[in-house]
This record gives sequence, C-alpha cells and structure tokens, in this order.
Amino acid sequence: MNIILLGPPGAGKGTQAARLEADRGMVQLSTGDMLRAAVKAGTPVGLQAKSVMEAGELVSDAIVSALIGERLDQGTGNGAIFDGYPRTAAQADALDKLLAEREATLDFVIELAVDEDALVERIVGRFTCANCGAGYHDKFKQPKVADTCDVCGHHEFKRRPDDNEETVRTRMTEYRAKTAPILPGYEARGLVYRVDGMADIAHVTQAIEDILDRK
Ligand code: ADP
Ligand code: ADP
Ligand code: ZN
Repeated sequence: MNIILLGPPGAGKGTQAARLEADRGMVQLSTGDMLRAAVKAGTPVGLQAKSVMEAGELVSDAIVSALIGERLDQGTGNGAIFDGYPRTAAQADALDKLLAEREATLDFVIELAVDEDALVERIVGRFTCANCGAGYHDKFKQPKVADTCDVCGHHEFKRRPDDNEETVRTRMTEYRAKTAPILPGYEARGLVYRVDGMADIAHVTQAIEDILDRK
C-alpha cells in the first residue's frame, strides 16, 4: 500500500507518518528529511538545496524526484508514505512514472486539512530529538519527562532554521500556488480522502487508520 500525506507545512504529515511506520511497518519517504541529510553531508544536492530551503522556496523537481527514485529502489517494507512529496504537478507526474516503472500503485492521498492560523503556531513551536528525530511541540506535544526524548532518552533537541514565521509564510504561499493545485487530479482518480488535521494527534491517526483499513 502506497499513500501520500498531503498538507501545508505544519499540518502534521511527519507526526502521522511516524505513527504509521510504528503501527503498520510502512516506510516514511520525506523529501524534506532527505534534503536536510544532503545539506548536512555537504553533497552536491545539499549545496544546491541549502539556500532554497532557508528561503522557504521549492527545490527543483528533478532533484527531489531523483531522491525519491533512489529511495524507492531501497525497498519500502509494507508500503511507502510519501511525506512532503509530490509538491508540484511535475512531481506528481514523476511519481506516477516512478511507481509504474516499479509496478506499484498509489492507493490513497490523505489530505490533512488545517486552519492556516494554526500552522504558524505549530511550526514555530516545533522541535525534534537531536538523536532519533522524534517530533515534539512546545505546547502540543512536550516530552513526557522534561528535556528527555520519549523514544530514545536523549537530552538534546533541535529546531529547523526554516521554522520561523517569515519563512513559514513563504512556504504557505508555495503550498497554495504549487501544491494545492495537484489535488484535483488525484480527486478525479478517486484517491483523495480529507482528514480534519485540527483534531488532536491521536484522533488524526485514528481517522487515517480508518481510511487505510478500507483496503
Ligand atoms: P509537517 O510534517 O506537516 O510539517 P509536523 O508533523 O512536523 O508537520 O507537525 C508540526 C508541529 O505540530 C509539530 O511540532 C507537531 O508536534 C505538532 N502537531 C502535529 N500534529 C498535531 C495536532 N494534530 N495537534 C497539535 N499539534 C500537532
Ligand atoms: P514541512 O514539514 O514544513 O512541510 P519539509 O520538511 O517537507 O517541510 O520541507 C522543507 C523544505 O525542503 C521545503 O520548504 C523545501 O524547500 C524543501 N522541499 C522538501 N520537499 C520538497 C519537494 N517535494 N519539492 C521541493 N522542495 C522540497
Ligand atoms: Zn530521541
């Protein structure tokens, strides 16, 4: 089963992908995570992507689709969860080709619907474990024990350089202009299911699980 989690920055894609990985043995394919790893490693892709990401703009379609193709070739367990990809019409076309070449299909496009006002608060309060990457929030998802990762017990956390209010506005504009327009194409194929992303994290997970159980 292969699914896309689609929604603006801060909608909860990464949070829900991590839960589906744990519950179903699916594998999260986050182009954002892949690009951040490339930036950290100083690869040619990372060198090209760094300033674009810091500005909140979109990295080129060719780069991200190549990353996804390479990742698909490594295998995806019980299915791929595309998180943050595709983000443009060209990427949506590329994904269809990448899946067809591997005789795979797309089963669901889950749209996480969230009030725009809530997104800035979510993004600005977001932080992750510096060791395992588990996601947290200053207000909505604090570690159970202060300053200690629930998953691995590590004590250091980090924040993304692009998680500031100004960049978030650009990222939301990019989402509206380039990503939201890919939804009608998926709707025409009967793939889109809309979930209320304003519900609390566990309820959003349950709503997604209910959709996936239809298969
Ligand atoms: P995305 O991957 O779509 O950018 P994240 O999953 O990283 O979004 O979520 C953004 C922030 O909001 C994180 O700090 C996360 O802990 C928090 N968050 C995610 N889902 C919810 C929710 N349903 N309610 C409140 N906060 C949430
Ligand atoms: P968020 O969790 O806020 O949705 P991501 O981690 O998915 O953000 O992406 C962070 C940044 O990485 C984006 O603002 C963009 O610069 C770049 N990026 C990630 N995925 C893509 C993609 N599919 N196409 C183009 N740029 C991307
Ligand atoms: Zn951790």
